[in-house]
Amino acid sequence: FKKVEIKNLTKIFISGKNKVKAVDNLDLTIEPGEFVCLLGPSGCGKTTMLRMLAGFEVPTTGNIFIGNKDVANLTPDKRDTAMVFQNYALFPHMNVFDNIAYGLKVQKRPKAEINERVEKILKLMKMDDFATRVPSQMSGGQQQRVSLARALIMNSGVLLFDEPLSNLDAKLRLHMRDEIRKLQKEVGITSIYVTHDQAEAMSLSDKVVIMKDGKIMQVGSPIEIYQRPNSEFVAKFIGRANILKAKLIPEDGNSATINIFGHEYPSKEDLNGKSKEVDIVVRPETIKFDKKTHEGTVLKSVFMGENHEYEIEVNGQIIEAVLSNPHGKDIKSVGERIGFTFDHEALHIIDNN
Ligand code: ADP
Ligand code: MG
Repeated sequence: FKKVEIKNLTKIFISGKNKVKAVDNLDLTIEPGEFVCLLGPSGCGKTTMLRMLAGFEVPTTGNIFIGNKDVANLTPDKRDTAMVFQNYALFPHMNVFDNIAYGLKVQKRPKAEINERVEKILKLMKMDDFATRVPSQMSGGQQQRVSLARALIMNSGVLLFDEPLSNLDAKLRLHMRDEIRKLQKEVGITSIYVTHDQAEAMSLSDKVVIMKDGKIMQVGSPIEIYQRPNSEFVAKFIGRANILKAKLIPEDGNSATINIFGHEYPSKEDLNGKSKEVDIVVRPETIKFDKKTHEGTVLKSVFMGENHEYEIEVNGQIIEAVLSNPHGKDIKSVGERIGFTFDHEALHIIDNN
């Protein structure tokens, strides 16, 4: 399976007097066999990026290497990529078997080979029983599996997905997510998956690429992105986050303390030994309620079953906090005072310089 390298990739769309920089000078390396999600809000350039990889869109400038070959100006069939689309893009008049076989027929493969490969993929996807159905006789989830099978059968070096699950209902989406991940692990194919759904990106990826306005904001494993976001944008795009103003005070050696609401917490990061104002990311679920280091007033108190959500006002700032496994006696109502403390291990500094 193939490595993908993107260098200085830019796409500018010009329509009339308007110029849109959909992808802005991107660099990205994807290792063979890796599952990478491009994640970002609508309009940030994800689809454009994927279409340039597939060959449906010509880059304005830059290079795309797929397994050491620069494919930026090759047609889609010469790139060794296969794509799974949001709207399935199946041929409505063809049955499942013929839809899946289509690409191999175009390649003029021998009939026996085509039959064998389609049978094999139908089995892999547990769709043997659907071979003679046409798309209109199937649910959205089944159609998307056919579209996935149709991409997989080409034995390409790279599989591209553009929001393949966004037309499915929530429950089926979860199921298909697991199925895609399992299949990808089994087959081992390099995969690039576009989504605006952060839970999808977190659960599928080896590596998440966070995009905004055509640019990459951060690249990292789901844990890195969640626990050590490099900006307020990333922190808030991936999950919920409190961004607190704090003062970082260096100590002797390589350590420092962070002063939040007048209390000093030890810090692992000393940011070059300079005392400065910093932004601290605090995830709501890392706040603890067993010690009263700080006190605030409950503005919102919502029981959600597996957890309880609060908004707490402290010194004019509003803090989101989540209590997991809530019991009646621990729960505070709106207007009550509540004590809490931050977990210093979970405090993350954003270095704004
Ligand atoms: P995403 O998939 O992240 O929602 P897109 O890649 O579809 O974003 O779009 C990125 C930007 O490029 C948007 O501002 C969009 O309007 C613009 N854009 C996309 N395709 C075209 C096109 N064919 N012509 C003009 N502008 C386009
Ligand atoms: Mg899109």
